Amino acid sequence: MKDTPIIKSFDVHKIRADFPTLHQQIHGKPLVYFDNAATSQKPKVVIEKLQEYYQETNSNVHRGIHFLSQKATDEYEITRHKVQALLNAKHLHEVIYTSGTTAGINLVAHSFGQKFVGEGDEIIVSEMEHHSNIVPWQLICELKGATLKVIPVNEAGELDMEAYKHLLSDRTKLVGIVHTSNSLGTINPVKEIIQLAHQYGAAVLVDGAQALPHAPVDVQELDCDFFVFSGHKIFGPTGTGILYGKEKWLNAMPPYMGGGDMIKVVRFDKTTYSDLPHKFEAGTPNIAGIVGLAAGIDYVNSIGYDHIGQQEAKLLAYGTQALESIPGVRIIGTAKHKTSVISFLIDDIHPYDAGTILDRLGIAIRTGHHCTQPLMAKFGLPGTMRASFAFYNTTEEIDQLVAGIYRVKKMFGKA
Ligand code: PMP
Repeated sequence: MKDTPIIKSFDVHKIRADFPTLHQQIHGKPLVYFDNAATSQKPKVVIEKLQEYYQETNSNVHRGIHFLSQKATDEYEITRHKVQALLNAKHLHEVIYTSGTTAGINLVAHSFGQKFVGEGDEIIVSEMEHHSNIVPWQLICELKGATLKVIPVNEAGELDMEAYKHLLSDRTKLVGIVHTSNSLGTINPVKEIIQLAHQYGAAVLVDGAQALPHAPVDVQELDCDFFVFSGHKIFGPTGTGILYGKEKWLNAMPPYMGGGDMIKVVRFDKTTYSDLPHKFEAGTPNIAGIVGLAAGIDYVNSIGYDHIGQQEAKLLAYGTQALESIPGVRIIGTAKHKTSVISFLIDDIHPYDAGTILDRLGIAIRTGHHCTQPLMAKFGLPGTMRASFAFYNTTEEIDQLVAGIYRVKKMFGKA
């Protein structure tokens, strides 16, 4: 497969031209889209790929000998190669298509849990996990009589690694850890977490939903056992996701969902299952979405993670300084290693009220608990405001956010 050439120089205004949604007026104001951690906008190449697929290819995969079915299958399988390269997975069949991060974690929790978790065993997660990396483990613990242990977080929003070391034991079967926090932006020392877990023979699942949009990941270098992410956060279509799993685990785990495509032979006395990756891919998948995801990955590769990292580091530094300089603004999450996510509060103004006013100014931020209620409880907060930047955002947009915050303060009599 051809490598995608990387752009020579990064011009954010040229880049923005690739994203049609960014050029809208919202409530009569130019859109400032700072909700990238929830989902990213899509470049034209992804939108066009979806249209092209439905217009020229649409057919079911792996099932037909006819031309369109084979074309659909070929296009659908190309994405697997692109993901293998993106993650540096050792084997192509270690790449499993899912509908998103949530689906990937549930698959592992159920299937790994069914086989490898028993009564008295322990699963470790952290206090900063997204609900999708907490609840599936609670479900399997309840089913199996296992216990969920929690790595605490300090005031800066960093993991307490000493506490983690004390939680690990021979009873630990799996550690589920978020690579990059969606609420605070903290980048966790996942490699060290994995090394420590492996000393006890525990497997590690890395929730990479907020990692890949910002930085490259090498699953072999990390030596993680499972890595999950969502296509829609890396500029691909919604309803797409990837589970990477080491071959040895995936082969040993029972299927998650039963149905078409995941079987070799179905008989009432004994059914046998497909080899990897199809064992975990029952039913008609989101073919168009997966085909579109390849265009999203190509797009990211064409920008290049170096450019993405530089632009986002600039936005994070500029945004942090700008927000810190506003009297009454408090940033929640001040880890040393952060991605371009800023959670904040304005005086005692409820995030929902502030978010509503900012929306009227065309500024899209997220307010609430960000699906991390235990983390919010740790900080004693019902929620925060969160501005999350992508490489297509600009410092001028951050200036607009700052002006918007002053407007909010004024409306609440705080300025
Ligand atoms: N984990 C993290 C860290 C996330 O940010 C998200 C999405 N906000 C998820 C998991 C769940 O992703 P999805 O809804 O795409 O399944």
